[in-house]
Amino acid sequence: MQALGLASGYTHAFSVAALNSALRTGPVMIGIEWLNSMLDPKSEGRIPLDATSGVAGGHELELTKYDAATGEYWVPNSWNTSWGDKGWAYLTTADLTWLLSQQGDVTVPSLTSSPTPTPAAPAAPTGAQVAAAVRSTLTGLGVTMALMPGATFIGPTRNKRVDGIVEVRGLVLHIQQGTEQGSDAWFKNPASQASSHFLNPKTGGLRQLVDTKDRAWAEADGNAHWISIENEGYAGDKLTASQLENAAQLLAWLHKTYSVPLEPTDDPNGKGLGRHGMGGAAWGGHTGCPGDPVKAQRPAIIARTEQILGIDQKPHVSLAHVVYASQHDPAAAQGHTTHSAEVLIVERALHAEGLLSAQYVDGSWGTKTITAYARWQRSAAGGGFTGTAADGVPGETSLKLPAARHGFTVTD
Ligand SMILES: [Zn+2]
Repeated sequence: MQALGLASGYTHAFSVAALNSALRTGPVMIGIEWLNSMLDPKSEGRIPLDATSGVAGGHELELTKYDAATGEYWVPNSWNTSWGDKGWAYLTTADLTWLLSQQGDVTVPSLTSSPTPTPAAPAAPTGAQVAAAVRSTLTGLGVTMALMPGATFIGPTRNKRVDGIVEVRGLVLHIQQGTEQGSDAWFKNPASQASSHFLNPKTGGLRQLVDTKDRAWAEADGNAHWISIENEGYAGDKLTASQLENAAQLLAWLHKTYSVPLEPTDDPNGKGLGRHGMGGAAWGGHTGCPGDPVKAQRPAIIARTEQILGIDQKPHVSLAHVVYASQHDPAAAQGHTTHSAEVLIVERALHAEGLLSAQYVDGSWGTKTITAYARWQRSAAGGGFTGTAADGVPGETSLKLPAARHGFTVTD
């Protein structure tokens, strides 16, 4: 204000009485402790003060209006019209008095021109602006935020425990059993005692409701360890293409931020891409969440995540190399190997299928491996080949089938 020529200097005041007299001439700045309870103003605007909730940080804010009839001190929030009452919130006289007693102070600008006590209503910000402003405002409060870049922040909600995440083990897929709009309202309703870190609508981008350092209320006993995503739809639905893309983008961010491994998991104490049902009764007994089709989409989500990150975690097996080995190893001396590392990968798959005993998993495509691979080719899972097409020499189809089941990539 000084730089703009609006104020010629400042004086400080430390009491509500001094504050009230200063407010008659214009807005004043107050510096107070900002408590955790004050982060989520009520929808009618009251900033709740719970002295036991802990200090989130120090905060400098502008008091612009005092309602003498109700004793309410109003502050505008220029970055979020959904904060408090359309972007405005108030402290009661009693609460402000207490806050000022906790080493708070009041800065009164000496104005050089007539003040405008009530600023213009804030313009509606975009989702990205809100997310950026929420981040920078709370960072200014000394609160570290963990918001996913690109996600639209739709919080806050009271349904969370601030700083409640102990360790991120992974991402848990849910299905909303309803619409995005309904879930949004439900997760902001304190009566529901439920929330999710992310909401994934059938169309459009990812929406974030709860900071990933805070505990959302989606998996009961798993809440301290898992990041939740509620997908719009009903159990039995498949994720839409954009939902799958959003889930993959989120998993990529969690991989970079929290080292979440890119693999499915069905273990509440494991790590990776999980599902609500895996937690059983301890996670609320939602064994049908998110439903079989979404559960089965996990490899596709992970494959897309790897693509986003430019990672190919799987070992490569060259078809030409193993064909060469299958044509040269059997006739050569016992234990002869060609491209043994790649042969080993295929032999391990044959062993896992119960077709090759462990002693022949040796990196040599000998006669035992020929026999085992021929059995694989004849099996339904191996393509159901017959005659010379099931001769123990790999073909593209018979090799890609075990690749998908045993986690390797076939190259030319
Ligand atoms: Zn669920």
